Amino acid sequence: MDRGLLYILSFFSFWLGACIASFLNVVIWRVPRGESIVTPPSHCPKCGSSIRWWQNIPILSWLALRGKCANCRAPISPRYILVEMLGGVLFLAAFLLVVLRGAGWFSVLDCGVAGDAAAVLVLWIWISLMIAGSFIDFDHQLLPDFTTVGGMVLGLAFSLVQAAWLACAAGGRGRDAAWIPFAWSLAGLVFGFGLLWLVRWIGSKAFRREAMGMGDVFLMGAVGALFGPIAVLVTLILSSVFGSVVGIGMILLSKTKLGKFVAIPYGPYICMGCLAWMFRGPEMIDWYLHLFR
Ligand SMILES: [Zn+2]
Repeated sequence: MDRGLLYILSFFSFWLGACIASFLNVVIWRVPRGESIVTPPSHCPKCGSSIRWWQNIPILSWLALRGKCANCRAPISPRYILVEMLGGVLFLAAFLLVVLRGAGWFSVLDCGVAGDAAAVLVLWIWISLMIAGSFIDFDHQLLPDFTTVGGMVLGLAFSLVQAAWLACAAGGRGRDAAWIPFAWSLAGLVFGFGLLWLVRWIGSKAFRREAMGMGDVFLMGAVGALFGPIAVLVTLILSSVFGSVVGIGMILLSKTKLGKFVAIPYGPYICMGCLAWMFRGPEMIDWYLHLFR
């Protein structure tokens, strides 16, 4: 890709991610509370004054206002700017991943720019669903259906697009293999769902209480539907590592006794594991296989 175009598209990716994440901030706050995401327009929760368009520019407005309401100077949580930066960075990273590595690890659409654009679009949608779901899970210990079921539908739908492309558009050369993307996606969904369902069942027997919500089971189904069964295994291992590190940290910091049951949402760690898979998955598999050589 031409270097100038690469810079322009990189900037566009970051800015689009920040704008989408700005909207996700609204979703994260309002959807679990059963409020409309359209009306009323954004307003300060303290003084109720409406937020003008120039006070609603992602990242820049928060910095310009130094994290305070322009009217009453009430502090605005730094989480808003953090979510916006996270959206920008992850959109940019997904774009660069596909441009630099190619989309072959994720999609069989090797039809040039259109195939790469489709892969980037699916990754961007999934990143948006994960950001909203993770922060809602942090706040309310529940994973919304639009993240979990939405991810499964996204994964299966994208696999059908790939299957259709192999069957029709690829000049007939992929006709015999057309069923593979859909089978891989379905296998990932069933494996992810089944594996976490089993973990949940064993956990509930061992701790005699619900150790994990059904939302986490559905979320792993979505990881499988999008990235296949191997991604499920890697995501499960990484998410338990991330979750344990944070859990142990929380116990040490709060001096909670080990025996005491601390409810920590698992969804965000599944998302962190899935992100690690998305950005470093093939390298991790290589590294693991090299251990045995
Ligand atoms: Zn205010």
